[in-house]
Amino acid sequence: MTRIVVIGGGSAGTGAATNAIQFDRSLDVTLITEFEDIAYSPCGIPYVFGRDIKNFDGLFLQPLEFYSEMGINLKTETVVEVIDMDKRAVYTTNGEEYPFDKLILCTGWEYEIPNLANVDLEGIIFIKNIRRAMEIDGRLDNVKQAVVWQAKPLGVELIEALPHRDIETHLVDSGSWLMSEFADADMMELLQNHLVNDLGVKMHFGTDLMGFSGEDGKLTSVQTSDGDIDADMAFLVAPMKPSTKLAKSIGIKTGSTGAIIVDNHMKTNVDEVYAAGACVETMHGLLDIPVNLIQGTYAYTQGRLAGVNVAGGDESYSPVYVPWALGSKVQVGGALISETLAKATGMPYIIGKAIGITAARYHPSVEPMHVKLLADPKSKKLIGGQLAGGEGVKERADFLAFAIRKETTLIELATMENVYSPPIGALVEPIAAAAKNALANI
Ligand SMILES: Cc1cc2nc3c(=O)[nH]c(=O)nc-3n(C[C@H](O)[C@H](O)[C@H](O)COP(=O)(O)OP(=O)(O)OC[C@H]3O[C@@H](n4cnc5c(N)ncnc54)[C@H](O)[C@@H]3O)c2cc1C
Repeated sequence: MTRIVVIGGGSAGTGAATNAIQFDRSLDVTLITEFEDIAYSPCGIPYVFGRDIKNFDGLFLQPLEFYSEMGINLKTETVVEVIDMDKRAVYTTNGEEYPFDKLILCTGWEYEIPNLANVDLEGIIFIKNIRRAMEIDGRLDNVKQAVVWQAKPLGVELIEALPHRDIETHLVDSGSWLMSEFADADMMELLQNHLVNDLGVKMHFGTDLMGFSGEDGKLTSVQTSDGDIDADMAFLVAPMKPSTKLAKSIGIKTGSTGAIIVDNHMKTNVDEVYAAGACVETMHGLLDIPVNLIQGTYAYTQGRLAGVNVAGGDESYSPVYVPWALGSKVQVGGALISETLAKATGMPYIIGKAIGITAARYHPSVEPMHVKLLADPKSKKLIGGQLAGGEGVKERADFLAFAIRKETTLIELATMENVYSPPIGALVEPIAAAAKNALANI
């Protein structure tokens, strides 16, 4: 019987183990993971904090017994310390040995803890594990002021959530607007105004995090380059790095992003060792460079593929175009490249913008839909787009990523067909309007 060991029980590891055994029931599949749970969605944590979701129950896909009944040998709260490729076995910190014929590394990512004074005070939070998030949730009712460091997607979700618990929420970020690493200032304005004017978030842009002060081991204030901010809790959305220690220990190659290099079957350079999820790098279809993606959709799909291939299948992974979106009342999203990234990489571009609507102008559900498209000046092929507005941002972001993948031109977008149905779609599709404007500007 072929023995498969999967290390890591996040989206990638769960996808790998379940798909391997579903592909071939005769396999002996063991999943070893550090946390108490597998197959839960950490993505829902900010929304439970904000009470959009009532509690954590729905964030667990299935109880652990479901996976055991499927035939997976599940080892939770267990950490793999050593992989011995000569003996073909992994060893855990509590001295257990698990032999394997094939190994799948789904070790994910970890925060880079900033080297700042008093970063270990109680009240300084790095959210990852759902059990710890449940404990924090219980403490939020007593929090009066909180600081969120860094306006990355998770940081933005947190500053949208915490005011719903009557917490005075401060954002500290060294950039000049939300998600300034990849998004454009003009497209973040709508969300930024909503957060400040409707939810009362206090933005500290152009501000560096300097350290923390506390009393009796508990956080009392956050030190920044713009002065101290009183806080009972600080959420640090620190840089996330791929967890590659185990991989490197057996000679697996990592690439320019620091993550594991895999081929399109999720195979590493070491025989019979596969890897998937946030610990690997993935080719970007347009830029033709590797990127390290820390998102559930990629982790699950890559894990599924690694599981199928390890079990004898033959599925390959395609380059990515990275649609993204977030926000509840005001939504933002897009598909890379943004103007910010085009400028940073020296990529030539033309722009088309439009402000459309999400429904018929006379329907009560109507909301604005801002669209900004970027295209190659010569071929007029779409290279990126961003959206800001109401319902329908996510679907349009997915559509734009697919349009980039299919090398769609502005002319094709300007003449696209669209649904007109009063509650969900206007006569003129905002994407088509932005494409027309881009062509008119040439
Ligand atoms: C608060 C939060 C919100 C998020 N929101 C979104 C979102 O909105 N959309 C989205 O797409 N993604 C989101 N993500 C990211 C996503 O959920 C996953 O973290 C990401 O997809 C990576 O999955 P993964 O399985 O590759 O790695 P991880 O989720 O990091 O899982 C890896 C697992 O392996 C374990 N492990 C590592 N080394 C060992 C070892 N030596 N021995 C045993 N176990 C080990 C780790 O403890 C961990 O449980 C969010 C994450 C968080 C924390």
